[in-house]
Amino acid sequence: MVFDEWDEPEDQPQIETLVEAEIWGRKVIENFNASLKPHERAREFLGVEIVDEESDKHRWVKRSLTTVMSRSGGRSYDKYGCDGCGITGRRYGLDAHVQRDSDFKAAGFESCKMSKVLLERRRKRAEKKGV
Ligand SMILES: [Zn+2]
Repeated sequence: MVFDEWDEPEDQPQIETLVEAEIWGRKVIENFNASLKPHERAREFLGVEIVDEESDKHRWVKRSLTTVMSRSGGRSYDKYGCDGCGITGRRYGLDAHVQRDSDFKAAGFESCKMSKVLLERRRKRAEKKGV
């Protein structure tokens, strides 16, 4: 569970079920709304979501409108990008699997969460170089 603007402990190991998580979530929002400061707006509880290994997979979305034909006579492919971390890949022909582009071949990019970390590191390194 992720909260942004106010301080609530996110890690609640005693919560084991979705129902418990929902009760806790509603309580957090109620408490927040009960102690609104003048500039704050009341919040609405939208729901709870289980975040598990499943969510660590890339969410590939097709980025190319048309299939790309390889000039060297190789196979044609569609360009994909991950909605979660932003890495790119290709899907060849009717292959169900999207292959990560060569920039993201390292094993760490297998995980969507890890990819975000690695991309952030790359960005910082580039910043230092003044690129
Ligand atoms: Zn991803």
